[in-house]
Amino acid sequence: MSYGGMINEVELETQRLYKILGGLTDFKIGAKYDAAFCRAAAPFTLEINKLKKETDAVILAHYYCAPQIVYGVADYKGDSLALARAAAEVKESIIIFCGVFFMAQTAKIINPRKRVFLPPLFAGCSLADSVDAAQAAAMRAKYPRAQFVCYINSTAEVKAACDICVTSANVFDIIAASAARQIVFLPDVYMAADIAREMRRRGIDKEIIPFGGTCCVHDKYNAQDVRDIRAAHPAAAIICHPECAPQVCELCDYCGGTSGMLKFVKSSAARTFAVLSEDGIINCLEYENPDKNFLHYGRTCAQMKRNNLQNILGILKNPAPEAEVQVGSSVADAAKKCIYKMFKAGGADL
Ligand code: SF4
Repeated sequence: MSYGGMINEVELETQRLYKILGGLTDFKIGAKYDAAFCRAAAPFTLEINKLKKETDAVILAHYYCAPQIVYGVADYKGDSLALARAAAEVKESIIIFCGVFFMAQTAKIINPRKRVFLPPLFAGCSLADSVDAAQAAAMRAKYPRAQFVCYINSTAEVKAACDICVTSANVFDIIAASAARQIVFLPDVYMAADIAREMRRRGIDKEIIPFGGTCCVHDKYNAQDVRDIRAAHPAAAIICHPECAPQVCELCDYCGGTSGMLKFVKSSAARTFAVLSEDGIINCLEYENPDKNFLHYGRTCAQMKRNNLQNILGILKNPAPEAEVQVGSSVADAAKKCIYKMFKAGGADL
């Protein structure tokens, strides 16, 4: 290709990116992404999109990753459940999972024949990492008759130690339908409180035993934040993720996971929204609702932001076996049972 042709290719890619990213807010600077940003990203997105075809790779990206990944190079984008479903369907031999470690583990468990890579090699999650297999086993010894339910944000080892996995979208129905009265819920302490409240509301007798885990992004919000936003923006709808504390959720107009937020904003008559969640979901809401306004009350998950165009390119150029996500077969088998019980329970189809 001639030098002029290469310039043209970069310019066309810049235009493609700008068409998408130009409508989204770069929360680091509080302004929309500009053409200069897209021009700097274009050589990387071009090379990644070419190399992934040549190497038979597919890119899955969580909404909390940077938009140049989600909208520039990802083949599938979504929340952890949507990406787990996608991981089961992909035909390519390499999965590049832009997210955090437990999500890449889930992809490997669901589709063990694929080579799975996490671009930063390791990116933790405060919630998933708040409980380990030994602590789960200790809880088992203490509550031998309880059913063990884990949030999808848990490591493969913890899933392997539990009976069934849930997401924020199906947790209430799965626990309501459970034959067990005593439920140990790992690891999110706020979701455990929310489940207990919902079971009381439904008139279902359950003892919900919590663990002490929290998401370090969502647990930063408090009830006063919601009152302050309400006072400053009385016309705005305030929405939050269920990983926020229950006293935050109670004061908001809507509390729900990613798919729930997308539906709520789409159907809401409000024009302005304050979203108490990760910045990436606000970009996703901006993308889906260009006619609505989003105030900046989001926070950043630093671990999700460890995925970048440079480390994606690095994996594509050198998908070395030692960089692959591995899950031991006994853990993988037990964790798979836990995940598939959720799919079978009808809470989510795969
Ligand atoms: S936002 Fe919270 S739950 Fe999600 S990956 Fe980051 S730390 Fe984990």
